[in-house]
Amino acid sequence: MKYIIAKSVFLSLFAFLILSCKSNYTQEEKLGENQKEWALVIHGGAGVITRKLMTSERDSAYRKVLTRALETGEKVLSEGGSAIDAVEKTIHVMEKSVHVMLAGEGASDFAVEQGLEQVDPSYFYTDHRYRQLTEAINREKNGTVGCCALDKDGNLAAGTSTGGMTNKKYNRIGDAPVIGAGTYANNSSCAVSATGHGEYFIRWTVAHDISALMEYGEMSLYEAANLVINDKLVKAGGTGGVVSLDKYGNIAMPFNTEGMFRGFVDSDGDRAVHIYKDE
Ligand code: ASP
Repeated sequence: MKYIIAKSVFLSLFAFLILSCKSNYTQEEKLGENQKEWALVIHGGAGVITRKLMTSERDSAYRKVLTRALETGEKVLSEGGSAIDAVEKTIHVMEKSVHVMLAGEGASDFAVEQGLEQVDPSYFYTDHRYRQLTEAINREKNGTVGCCALDKDGNLAAGTSTGGMTNKKYNRIGDAPVIGAGTYANNSSCAVSATGHGEYFIRWTVAHDISALMEYGEMSLYEAANLVINDKLVKAGGTGGVVSLDKYGNIAMPFNTEGMFRGFVDSDGDRAVHIYKDE
């Protein structure tokens, strides 16, 4: 018996979603040769991220943050914690609701009830981001973090948190909280967290498409994720990428932008943090 728990919070400036599935592994699958005990992938947004536009200080600061995020989830999973806890702890927003999605004032009230820190909109202002806004209106780079985890019980979870697109209309809802678009987890296939131009990820139901290609098209995670991000989405004109994990702990992190902040760690001791396309 498989069931899905899906919860999300959508705030005007901040969206977050966690989706997880209960295990439906057979013992054989669990003992499969390539089965990893646990695994974790993260992203910190995709976009116009090139070595030319980066200072060495910012490069190493980004790598430090990605490494810290990986270590947070790694601790939970290696100690036998659940995938959903690992995702929550890694991307920092707690959620407790029976609903799938909350928006507008309801979401704000819910955030207050849950004791989330409230900040003035000016909190989100930085000179660097303001410059990017004025220089590159409509670029997709933003304050995003996403994570997928596989735990020791064989459960997959995915979560995505975003500030949305640069220069978006107020009350615009992106793909992060839309199940099957920017975030999806299914124990029979994979967990996916996306970053990029959300309107395309919603219209092309990107995260679910990857899962469906695996479930019904019998593709591997790598084939499915690459087909959707580097073929279907490119032809549609959509920019961005995903981090994803299958039920064995295999990892795929394709993106069609110049860079994507990303990293992974697993129970075999493999780990890495990358930023640019050529890494
Ligand atoms: N996918 C997000 C959105 O469209 C942007 C991001 O954080 O990558 O809202």
